[in-house]
Amino acid sequence: MSDNIRRILVVNAGSSSLKFTLFDMQNESVLAKGQVERIGMDGSLFTFESAKAKFKQAPTVAPDHTAALNTVCAALVDPEKGCLSSITEINAVGHRIVHGGAKYTTPVRVDETVIEGIRELIPMAPLHNPGAIQGIVGCMAVLPDVPHVTVFDTAFHQTMPPESYLYGLPKDIAGKYGIRKYGFHGTSHHFITVRASEVLGIPLDKLNIITCHLGNGSSISAVKNGKVLDTSMGMTPLAGVLMGTRCGDMDPAVVVFLAKQGYTPDQINDMMNKKGGILALGNTGSSDMRELCDAALSGTNPEAKTALDRLIHSYVMYIGGYYALLGRVDAIILTGGIGENSYEARGALLDRLGGLGVIPDDARNREFRFGKEGRISADGSTLPVYVLPTNEELMIARETYGIACK
Ligand code: ADP
Repeated sequence: MSDNIRRILVVNAGSSSLKFTLFDMQNESVLAKGQVERIGMDGSLFTFESAKAKFKQAPTVAPDHTAALNTVCAALVDPEKGCLSSITEINAVGHRIVHGGAKYTTPVRVDETVIEGIRELIPMAPLHNPGAIQGIVGCMAVLPDVPHVTVFDTAFHQTMPPESYLYGLPKDIAGKYGIRKYGFHGTSHHFITVRASEVLGIPLDKLNIITCHLGNGSSISAVKNGKVLDTSMGMTPLAGVLMGTRCGDMDPAVVVFLAKQGYTPDQINDMMNKKGGILALGNTGSSDMRELCDAALSGTNPEAKTALDRLIHSYVMYIGGYYALLGRVDAIILTGGIGENSYEARGALLDRLGGLGVIPDDARNREFRFGKEGRISADGSTLPVYVLPTNEELMIARETYGIACK
């Protein structure tokens, strides 16, 4: 542990929000966390938690990301609420970036070129990269003297071979626009891959697992010898399994069909990203897994049952496909809000994986919630299933630490 680099601030900025976690890397403990919401709007909202205080403050004045981080820093050094005696005790800042394209395969230290690189990728991530740039610029204005590091959600997936990431489109068009699979949730898949290596006692370079990050957004990855071989999300986070409000995989001709019916690109995008998935199929008026399971298992909402079946079906399709691609699988790992907490969804999934050697253990499955880590499959399973809680913020802090100490 370097004496110079110890406290790392992890920032996850959107266009109107800034989430933060301050880590002490000596023991990887959280010193403070919270967020500023409604940045640039009337009545911004500040939420803060440290060992000394927990509060929600509204309205807060945060016209931009610089003001938002100033609010955070003021609380961090407040003698009654905070955890630092001076803001100079923050040694580095790690920024979560959703899209790093094919260019960013590892975390990098921020400079003008990197900001420009993230800007060039805005067409690929119009909802995420602009806010992230605002976050970086705002944080660099408040903390100009420390290293800033960007950690990309796409980076861990960039070990995929062309046979995984190529789409069957004319090469000139695909090349011109960078149309290919990139994958997302890489920081989470990376974190649980490292953790799985520790828990299973298998060295990273020999570890074959299927990692399932199942939350509002979900993705499943095949990890071979510790590196991503394939992943379910695509050029954008819309592809793959059914999600809370995202449709996941479907015939791409549906988009052309809808366009020919007169729907605009924005309307189609909205339909597929915000009005699809569980929300569209579940007949509960919600995208939330808890409500879907309650409705599906109550026996009174057949559409919810069908939606749950459709969701689990999409998980099984990827897990089965990745099992075949990997040849040998040491474990299936579940994480994310659904993977960590929903024993109903996990139970329904495990019930369908018997063909791969998974034997469910209902009593064991029921025990896993709120951060509990361990094996949920029965002892006799030839393919074990584990719940390993993810921690994307800690992974960003570790990556930032690694770069900042170089
Ligand atoms: P995001 O992709 O927004 O980070 P999360 O990983 O927080 O999402 O996952 C949110 C999903 O997890 C929701 O569908 C929610 O219903 C589900 N979830 C969270 N807690 C529970 C729980 N205790 N039981 C069942 N499902 C849960």
